Parts: sequence; structure tokens; C-alpha cells
Amino acid sequence: MRLRGLMVGAVTAALVLPLAACGGSDSGNSGSNPPVATSAAFEDGTTMKKLADAGTVKVGTKFDQPLFGLKGLDGKPVGFDVEIAKIIAAKLGISADKIEWTETPSKVREEVIEQGKVDFVVATYTINDARKQRVSFAGPYYEAGQDLMVKKDNSAITGPDSLKAANAKVCSVTGSTPSENIKKYIDPANLVLFDVYSKCADALRTGQVDVVTTDNVILLGLVDASKGEFKLVGKPFTKEPYGIGIKKADTKFCEFIHETLEEAAGNGGYEKAWKDTAGTVAPNTPKLPTLATCA
Ligand code: GLU
Repeated sequence: MRLRGLMVGAVTAALVLPLAACGGSDSGNSGSNPPVATSAAFEDGTTMKKLADAGTVKVGTKFDQPLFGLKGLDGKPVGFDVEIAKIIAAKLGISADKIEWTETPSKVREEVIEQGKVDFVVATYTINDARKQRVSFAGPYYEAGQDLMVKKDNSAITGPDSLKAANAKVCSVTGSTPSENIKKYIDPANLVLFDVYSKCADALRTGQVDVVTTDNVILLGLVDASKGEFKLVGKPFTKEPYGIGIKKADTKFCEFIHETLEEAAGNGGYEKAWKDTAGTVAPNTPKLPTLATCA
């Protein structure tokens, strides 16, 4: 599948990186390395202090979503979410090579945060009230919208309202907001669920489903990786504000992440994170949205 084309790209990058290291780069990591805070000092008892003292952080992200979180063959994920995580880690005094990445498919995100298996999650993770019962969110750091992806030659599907008439089989992911939202537009028997979106893309390719639905920016990455096989319908019909998932009620950590995001928006780090990743395909560089109140 085409996704592998991108992964091969990541390998090529990995092969090139050691040469770059001769020029002074201090890491063989994929992607960028935001400047690491050298004098990070935090209040005792805070998550920031604990992580800064440990010198390492466990981050949950996606491994199969081009542009946001895609694991290359060098074992390191790349994408906008990955860059946001690196910016937060750097502010804690932790360099990118000290981040332990864990794959967090949509369904497991709350549970890995609750169980302390990760310190935070940056994984195309929509902030909503149901999830806020179990975890807290910093952000939003981006706003996506649910959309549809079809094969290039499909002209019958023009938006969610066209799905019923076409009797379309629609693929999404368990535990995701799109898998819930789409139910009002289709017969439940036509909803196919997998654990990750790359499996939906495979099912679209083989004709087992007619449509993949999730956030527009995730679909954009899959369209790009398909090299002309798929297209985006391009009419977002929900709002999906992305948050950084943290332990419930860790207000100080949330406030720290907000300061970090504001700083990155001010010093060009946020814009660079976008341009280096999703911005290679998505035309418009976003502005950091207004951050919610930490609670
Ligand atoms: N943003 C949506 C969600 O959090 C869809 C993307 C995903 O499944 O990661 O459920």
C-alpha cells in the first residue's frame, strides 16, 4: 500500500541523517529537535518536576497517520502531533531522543492516561465532555473537522447526506468521534470499524468499503499517500478541536502546556512544526486556537 511509500521516505531520511550529523546535528532522530530548555526548574510535587528530574517522558501518539503521527522504519514517529510533543518535552528539559513513544489507537487513549502508561497523549485527540469524565485536556492546539474519503472515480458520494442513497459501506475506527457522528447518516449495518485508519484505507483500496470517515487532516494524509487513488470529499461537517490528553485534574501540567504552546506560537516553533509536517500537504498554516481554561 502507498503508506509504505512514505515509510520508505522516512528510511531514506534516516539514511541521510547521519551525514547531517557530521555537520553538527546532535541526534539521529527523525524530524526536528526543538531547542531544549537548559534551566527548567519546577515546583516540587508537579508532573513537570517529576518528568524533568527523570529526564525522560512517555508520549502516546498515532503510528499510522501520515502528516500527524507516522512511524518510520527507524522506529521513530513523525508528524505534527509528534512535533507538538517534542516542543512540550523540550520545555521540560527533555530532548527528542529521550521521548519514549507509545502507539495509542483511538480506543485506548483514556485508559493509557488513567493507568499512567503514558505521561501525555498527542494523537489527533478531540476534546469532548465524555472524554473529560476520565482525562483532562490541554489545548486545543488545532481544530480539524470530520470529512469523507472515497476512491478517485466515486462521484456518488458528495457529503454525509449522500451516504444513505448510495447505500455506502463506511469505515472508521473504534472509540473515535467520527465513528459515533456518522451513525446519524447511515444504516448501522453499513458501518465497518477497525482499530486504526490505515486498515480502513486498505479496505477502501480493495473495495470492501466505499468510504472512510474521520478528520479531514487525517484523510488528507491518506489521500496524499495514495498517490491519486483516493480523494477527499472536502466538506467538513463537525468540529474536532485537538487536545493534549493528561491525567484528570492535573491543572498545573495543563497550565504549563498552555504556556509552552503560547510560547511556541510566539517564537515560530508552532508554525515550523506545522510547515515541516502537515504543512507539506495542507495549504494553510493554522494559528494556535484560543486555549480553553485548564480544569
Ligand atoms: N479526532 C477524532 C477523535 O479523537 C478522530 C481521530 C482519531 O480517531 O484519532 O476521535
